[in-house]
Amino acid sequence: MAIYVTRSSMPDINDYIEEIKPIFESRILTNMGPVYKRFQSQLMAYLDVPELSLFANGHLALEMAIQALGLKERGEQLGGGEVITTPFTFVSTTHAIARNNLKPVFCDIRRSDYCIDPDKIEALITDKTVAIIPVHVYGNICDVNKIENIAERHNLKVIYDGAHAFGETYNGVGVGNFGDATMFSFHATKVFNTVEGGAVAFRDKRYGVPLHELKNFGIHGPETITAIGGNAKMDEFRAALGICNLKRMDACIAGRKAAYDRYMQRLSGVDGIVLSQQKPEIDYNYSYFAVYFDKEKFGKSRDDVFAMLKEENIYARKYFYPAINDLKCYRDICTEQTPVAHDVSLNILTLPLYEELDVSDVDRICDIILR
Ligand SMILES: *Cc1c(COP(=O)(O)O)cnc(C)c1O
Repeated sequence: MAIYVTRSSMPDINDYIEEIKPIFESRILTNMGPVYKRFQSQLMAYLDVPELSLFANGHLALEMAIQALGLKERGEQLGGGEVITTPFTFVSTTHAIARNNLKPVFCDIRRSDYCIDPDKIEALITDKTVAIIPVHVYGNICDVNKIENIAERHNLKVIYDGAHAFGETYNGVGVGNFGDATMFSFHATKVFNTVEGGAVAFRDKRYGVPLHELKNFGIHGPETITAIGGNAKMDEFRAALGICNLKRMDACIAGRKAAYDRYMQRLSGVDGIVLSQQKPEIDYNYSYFAVYFDKEKFGKSRDDVFAMLKEENIYARKYFYPAINDLKCYRDICTEQTPVAHDVSLNILTLPLYEELDVSDVDRICDIILR
C-alpha cells in the first residue's frame, strides 16, 4: 500500500454530525456565528493566547496580519518598505509580504534548526525595514528572545509564520505569545486541520478590529467601509470540524510522537544523515520529520533517496525546495546570498509522518533508506 507524506486527521463522523446539527437548525452558516465563537474561545484556551482571529486559511491570515499591523501603509510612506524574512519556507510567507507591496529581504538560516539566523538579521536592516517575518520551520521555534531584542532596538514589528508550530510551547509559554502576531495554518496537511483554515494570535487588543474587518471586506458597520479588505472568513462548518479535531489533539500528537521517536532511533548516528536535535525548552507537536542527506558521507543524495522511496510507493516530500530566492519570481529582485538555505533546500527530505503511521511502516521506510 502506498504511504504518503501525510494523512489528514479526521474525527469520528458521528462527532462531526453532532457538531453541525445546530448549524442546520440556526441556518447561520458563516460570518462569525456561534460555532466560530465557540471554536475561537476553545482555541485561545488551547494555545494559551489572549487574542485570536480566525481565517479561511493561513495565507490570508498572514497577508491580513501584515496589513492590520499597518506595515503595508508604513512601507508605502517610505516609498517601498522592506521585510526581513527567510528563504527557507513555503512560498506563502513570501507572497504575503510581496502582496502587501513590501520587498522581501532574505536572511540566511542556521543549520541547527533551519530557522532564520538571528545573528545575520541586523546587517540587513535599512531605513526602509518595517518588520521581521521569521518561520518556525518544522515546529522548531526560532530564537524568539534574540529576534525580539533586535526588533525592539530598531523599532520593527515581528510576525511569526507559525504554520508548523500549532500548540507548541517555549519554556512553557504558548508559541503564539511571541512577537506582535503569529499566524497558524489549519490546512488539511497540517498537524491540526479544519480542511482549510488559519488564525492570527496577538497580544495587542488594538489589532482585533482591523483583523476582523479586513477579513470581511473592510466592513465596519452597515453603511461604513473603513479599509480595502477582502474575504477570508472561516465558516461555521470548518469551525465545527476544528472543535472536533481539537478534542483529538492529544491522541494525534501521541501517534506522531511514536513514529517520530522510531525514526530518531533508527536514523540517529548514521554517517551522512543529519537530524535536528530537539531542545528541552520546546514542547513539540511532531509535525514533520526532516532528514538532511550529506551525499559525500552517505553515498546517496536526497534526490536518490526520494526516488528509491518512490519506487516502493512511498512518497516523501522535498520540503522546502526550491529555496524561495531560487524561484523565478523572486531571484531577480532579491539578491542577498543565503548559502545555507540554498544547500539545505537541495539536501533535505521530509519523511512520511502522521497519527496512524505504524512503527512497522517507519521501519520499512528506514530499511529502504539504510539499505
Ligand atoms: C501551510 C503553510 C502556509 C500557508 O497556510 P495555508 O493555510 O495553506 O494557507 C504558510 N506558511 C507555511 C510555512 C506553511 O507551511
